[in-house]
Amino acid sequence: MNTLLPRLYQYIGQQINGSLQEKSIFICWLSLPIYLLIGFGCLAGLILSRWTEEIYNPLLWAGVIWGCSATLFWASLGYFGAQRAMSEDQGQLFAQLTIALFGVSGILSMLLVGPFNLVTGIVLTGSILIGMLLFPAQKIALIFALSIAAILAYAVTISLGGTHYQPLLEPVHAPAAQLWYDLMVIVAATLIIFKDSFTVAALTSTWRHREARTLLQASTDPLTGVANRGYATQVLEQAFLHAEQSGKPLSVVLVDVDHFKQINDRYGHQTGDLALQLVAHSLRDTLRDNDLVGRYGGEEFLLILPGSDAQNAIGIAERCAQALRNITIPGIQNQPALKLTASFGVHSEHASADSSPGDMIEKADIAMYQAKRAGRDRVISSDRMNPPR
Ligand code: GH3
Ligand code: MG
Ligand code: MG
Repeated sequence: MNTLLPRLYQYIGQQINGSLQEKSIFICWLSLPIYLLIGFGCLAGLILSRWTEEIYNPLLWAGVIWGCSATLFWASLGYFGAQRAMSEDQGQLFAQLTIALFGVSGILSMLLVGPFNLVTGIVLTGSILIGMLLFPAQKIALIFALSIAAILAYAVTISLGGTHYQPLLEPVHAPAAQLWYDLMVIVAATLIIFKDSFTVAALTSTWRHREARTLLQASTDPLTGVANRGYATQVLEQAFLHAEQSGKPLSVVLVDVDHFKQINDRYGHQTGDLALQLVAHSLRDTLRDNDLVGRYGGEEFLLILPGSDAQNAIGIAERCAQALRNITIPGIQNQPALKLTASFGVHSEHASADSSPGDMIEKADIAMYQAKRAGRDRVISSDRMNPPR
C-alpha cells in the first residue's frame, strides 16, 4: 500500500503526457470500477434479498448482467488497445471510438439508475472534467451534448408516463429496502468521487510540474543556467515599472568578457563554454538575492540591480570584476592556466517616463564600450564617463 498508491498516482499523472492511444486505454481502465460497482451492488442486493425479500427487484438481475458485461467489455477494449501498436490516425480513431462508447454505456447505465440522482450527476461531471483534461475539448463537448440530449429525452419520456424513472433504484415503501437502495447510492457516489478526485489530482499535479519545467526551460539559458535574454528583458521591464512607482533607484550593468575570441581560438570552444559557465556562476554568486544575472549575448551578461543607486551598483560591479579575476581554468597541452577579465558598463537612474528599459541598456552599453577603450578589466559608470570625443 505504501508504494502502490504513489505508483498509481504517478501512472495516472503520466497519462497527461501520453498519446491518444494511451489516454484511450486509460479511459477503459477508468470505466472498469464504475461497472464493477453496478455489478457488485446489484449482486449484493440479490444476496441480501434472500433474507429480506423487500429488497428484491427483478431488475437487479439486469444490473448484474449489465455490470459484468460492461466490465468485461472495457477490460477487453483496454487490453485490445494495449496490445496493438497504432499509427497516429488509428490512435485518433481508437480515441473517438472509446469516448463514444463511454458516452453510450454511460447513457445505458443512466436508464437503469435514473438520470437525476447523485451517482449519475457525479459520473457525468467527473467524466467531463477528466475528459477535458485528457482530450481535445470539442470531442468531449460533443459527447456531453449528446448525453444531455439523451437525459432530456429520457426525462420527457418519463413525464409522459412512458417508462419508470429509475427502474433499478425504484423507491419502495418498505424501510429495509429504502435503506438498502439509499446506502447503495451513497457508497457508489463516495467511491466514484474518491476515484475521480484522485485521478484529477494526479493529472493536474503532473500538468503543473510540466508547466513549471517548461517555464523554467523557456526562461533559462541552457549553457550557463542563468536567465536568458528574453527573461532578463522581461524582468528589467518589471523592475523598471516597479522603480517608477516606488521612486527607488534602479541599476543595470552590462558585462562583456575581454578577448573572449582569443580564449576560443587558443583553448578551443569547449574551454570557451566552460569559461562562460564559470563567469555566469561567479556573477550569480556575487549578486544579492533580489538581483538578476542574464546571458544577454554570446559572452555578454546583463545584471539587473533593483534598489541600487550608481554608487552601490559600481561597488557591486567592482566585486563582480574581482570575482572574475579569481577564476582560473587549468591550461591544457602546455598552455598556461587561463585567467579571465571583463569590462563593466554601469547605468543607474530613477526610472521615469523620460526613459525606458531599452534606454538604460543602451547607456550601460556605451559605458561598457568606454571601459573596453580605456583598457578593459574595469568598471565605468555612465554618470562618470568622459564626454565623447
Ligand atoms: P572584446 O574584449 O573586445 O570583447 O573581445 P572579444 O573577443 O571578447 O569580442 P568579440 O565580440 O569579437 O568575440 C566574442 C566571441 O565570443 C566570439 C564568439 O565566437 C564567442 N562566443 C559567443 N558565444 C559563444 C558560446 O556560446 N561559446 C563559446 N565558446 N564562444 C562563444
Ligand atoms: Mg561581445
Ligand atoms: Mg568580449
